[in-house]
Amino acid sequence: MEEQIIEELSSNCEHCVTKPCQMGCPLNNDITDFIEYAKEKEYEQAYLSLSKTTVLPSICSRVCNREEQCEKSCVKRISFSPVQIGTLEQIIGDMGLNYSWNIKSHPKTKYKVAVIGSGPASLTCASFLRRYGVQVKIFEKKSTLGGLLTHGIPEFRLPYEITQKTIESILNQGIEVRYNKELGRNLQISDLLEHYQYIFIGIGANIPKKIELKGIQKTGVYYANEFLENKPQFKFKEKTIAIYGGGNTAIDVARMAKKEGASKVYLIYRKEESFLSAFQSEILCAKEEKIEFLLQTCIEEIKGEKKVESIIVKRTILQENELILIENSDMELQCDAVFLALGSQASDEVKKLGLEQTEDGKIKINSFGETSNPRVYAGGDITKTKNSVAHASRSGRNAAYEILKKLKLFPRKYE
Ligand SMILES: Cc1cc2nc3c(=O)[nH]c(=O)nc-3n(C[C@H](O)[C@H](O)[C@H](O)COP(=O)(O)OP(=O)(O)OC[C@H]3O[C@@H](n4cnc5c(N)ncnc54)[C@H](O)[C@@H]3O)c2cc1C
Ligand code: SF4
Repeated sequence: MEEQIIEELSSNCEHCVTKPCQMGCPLNNDITDFIEYAKEKEYEQAYLSLSKTTVLPSICSRVCNREEQCEKSCVKRISFSPVQIGTLEQIIGDMGLNYSWNIKSHPKTKYKVAVIGSGPASLTCASFLRRYGVQVKIFEKKSTLGGLLTHGIPEFRLPYEITQKTIESILNQGIEVRYNKELGRNLQISDLLEHYQYIFIGIGANIPKKIELKGIQKTGVYYANEFLENKPQFKFKEKTIAIYGGGNTAIDVARMAKKEGASKVYLIYRKEESFLSAFQSEILCAKEEKIEFLLQTCIEEIKGEKKVESIIVKRTILQENELILIENSDMELQCDAVFLALGSQASDEVKKLGLEQTEDGKIKINSFGETSNPRVYAGGDITKTKNSVAHASRSGRNAAYEILKKLKLFPRKYE
């Protein structure tokens, strides 16, 4: 079955010499190369080709905004439909996990790097460092690995099993892990630098942006990303849910609510549809699932005795980049819970790390991923890197190459 799909989909690829799809991929995957192997039924070679630039093929292929990335750049898109690159990558990536195709690593050298956090940025950094002989130890504040791959993106889009198998394959390269180690609390940069030549920080930025809203303290009001991360007990069945925001987190909670039996789900967003930052493919799914989009609408107040009972919304209009509230447009909507999905930010604890910060409290890095301390690198959401799995992964890989160059372990050929 898989072979048949591969044959069908790969036959659409023109193998363009200029490889525009590769340019469209944040990870710069050599797409035409892996598809060529797949076409020839050399599946392990296809996997190894992908592995030159990524350690997350089974994950990125499921969660990338591929319609706007690799598949957007495919020449076939103009006259026909693009090659389904993501689907091919998913099949090959899953084969790699199922058959335990290994990425080769050099024997361990004396060099040690501490990798903080275990989201896509850190996992990728750890994997690329280990390939070239570095002794890598991951320090994670939770008792589970994966960052938002495990505690953010919902199961219906990214199966838990895929994330866990990917992590297992990365750790099998010979990477050690210390759980319940939190940088700034029971782990300090100065102590780590006594034992490790370099540090990579990939601690993400998943602290919800707080807003002021009348009635926000009522029972039944949640910050959406905190909710997805901590998964508290909440029964959506037959409830009416209001979600405030227009990004992927908002759509994820809306779809989750619907899948878990909510009778009505409103997605309330202040601007027009073209401003929604969620992936187009997700917006389409949400609409198909009958989520009600209340666009150009804002929440004015959350009402109820102690618990949420209703919300007061008001229409808005955008005039010369300014959002104007339309007078006398108030409307009361009955609902049982409100989810706020208005963005996330870095933890305040970052300022205690003694590293230079950006104006919005993230860790400042140069184009090589180096922080204000030349022995400390950072990547992913805790830096100004675009918030996506593929971009976080690329930043981890690029930082690993810079560290490897400093350690004179790269470029290096396999014996
Ligand atoms: C709901 C949701 C849906 C998303 N959907 C998509 C999607 O479909 N496609 C896409 O490309 N992107 C998506 N994203 C964005 C993507 O998940 C992030 O951009 C990406 O995970 C960032 O990776 P990271 O490695 O920088 O950090 P994270 O994934 O946030 O991982 C950070 C890790 O560091 C650990 N940590 C934090 N503080 C410390 C500390 N002080 N010490 C030690 N460890 C620490 C955390 O526990 C965590 O394990 C989504 C995000 C959310 C919230
Ligand atoms: S990593 Fe993402 S953008 Fe790159 S080829 Fe895979 S699906 Fe496309």
